[in-house]
Amino acid sequence: MDIPRIFNIMESAHRIHNPFTPEKLATLGEALRLKKGDRVLDLGSGSGEMLCTWARDYGVIGTGIDMSQLFTEQAKLRAEELCVADQVKFIHGDATGYVSDEKVSVAACVGASWIGGGVAGTIELLARSLRIGGIILIGEPYWRQLPPTENIAKECLAHSVSDFLILPELLVSFGRFGYDVVEMVLADQDGWDRYEAVKWLTMRRWLEANPGDELVKDVRAKLTSEPERHVAYTREYLGWGVFALMLR
Ligand code: SAH
Repeated sequence: MDIPRIFNIMESAHRIHNPFTPEKLATLGEALRLKKGDRVLDLGSGSGEMLCTWARDYGVIGTGIDMSQLFTEQAKLRAEELCVADQVKFIHGDATGYVSDEKVSVAACVGASWIGGGVAGTIELLARSLRIGGIILIGEPYWRQLPPTENIAKECLAHSVSDFLILPELLVSFGRFGYDVVEMVLADQDGWDRYEAVKWLTMRRWLEANPGDELVKDVRAKLTSEPERHVAYTREYLGWGVFALMLR
């Protein structure tokens, strides 16, 4: 079981697989007023940077589930590197339908809301692991500027303009699901560059090291087109943030 190999290739050098910088991740951890021993569940935990740094900085106890074998291995190594391997557990697997045995203070899905079939389904899934009074974290894109055409939405790698909302509408939608938005940290365009541009050098180096691989054509095409696509579309039109929610 794994995610499509192209993502493992493009994001093999990422520690954070979203447009947050390490500073933004730290800001979010601080904003949540985490306490030692708080339990955190992370569905789609990637390379584990959120759980590992919050375990180091706030003493939280964490479980992460991710479908990428590579990212899960990297998460385990990071936990050892930060001396938090006794506080965090990383499971390689499909997080669809995953509910923790013990209730958690923070239940997160940061940039992987397809795991619950969209934002509403993911909130419902996370809520099943949450203790009363706990916080749900959702990391999600929104339109920084509404794309004037469907084609522009597609260039942002959305299926259609209706895939995402503008920020005020996204916040209203959380209210409609019955939740208060109690905190938020938003990525910025420099953060998008850290997420997207890191892929370019990774792809370039991968092409040099893997000339006979079956994915050479795909990776080559991406390396050629992605820088321009990113600056023309994603960087301009797409925003991204993590929203902290509590049941009303
Ligand atoms: N939250 C992490 C990773 C976000 S990228 C971070 O912010 O760094 C999305 C992640 O979801 C990837 O690591 C991918 O491997 C994982 N993923 C995709 N489908 C999944 C599934 N069904 N179950 C668990 N993880 C999944």
